[in-house]
Amino acid sequence: MNLRIEAVPLGPFETNAYLLTAEGSKECVVVDAPKGAGENLLGEIKARGLTPTHLFITHGHWDHMCDAADFKTAGCKIIAHLADQIPIEQIETVRTRYQSMLPWLTDEDFRSTKVDRWVDEGDTVEALGLTFEIRHVPGHCPGSILFYNAQEKVSFVGDAIFKNSVGRTDLPGGNWNQLLQSIRTRIYTLPDDTHLLPGHGDTTTVGAEKASNPYAKPA
Ligand SMILES: [Zn+2]
Ligand SMILES: [Zn+2]
Repeated sequence: MNLRIEAVPLGPFETNAYLLTAEGSKECVVVDAPKGAGENLLGEIKARGLTPTHLFITHGHWDHMCDAADFKTAGCKIIAHLADQIPIEQIETVRTRYQSMLPWLTDEDFRSTKVDRWVDEGDTVEALGLTFEIRHVPGHCPGSILFYNAQEKVSFVGDAIFKNSVGRTDLPGGNWNQLLQSIRTRIYTLPDDTHLLPGHGDTTTVGAEKASNPYAKPA
């Protein structure tokens, strides 16, 4: 396999940031930017002499975009879905809501960043010499997207689905029926041997979740 993926759980919710590198390339891509990703991942990227080209944001929840501004400063193109424009580009407008749930977060933990490219269902992003297909998977969050590479059989799914679980739908913009529909029509339609790399916890596969996910049964 040409693509190498390293999962780095960071921040108060152990949100997975993924570092993507490819054999023979000095470029790298990062998926999601939890608190601490700027310091930890960018330091590691620099130490290895790599150039980060893109930050893929799976959705606009704070634990996935907290350090996005650091990747922007480092020269990354920021990729996200327009439905999450407010939490990504104007996080300060939803800061008090987060701070009421997570009172230990300081104002400095809320930094917006400008998105370079808004993507939607069916779009593709070229990075690391690979083509990533975008699928819109709302339900956990309105701007939830997945990044799928068919050649390497990998899909970065954010908080839409987890190993034996699914994303919560009780946060603003969440919708259970929509999430179930997203999983059935946008995730379970990927080949069974596709690796699902979620925003929290362990990697799984489409086939494994179709067989045993207790919340999202195939239609
Ligand atoms: Zn989330
Ligand atoms: Zn999350």
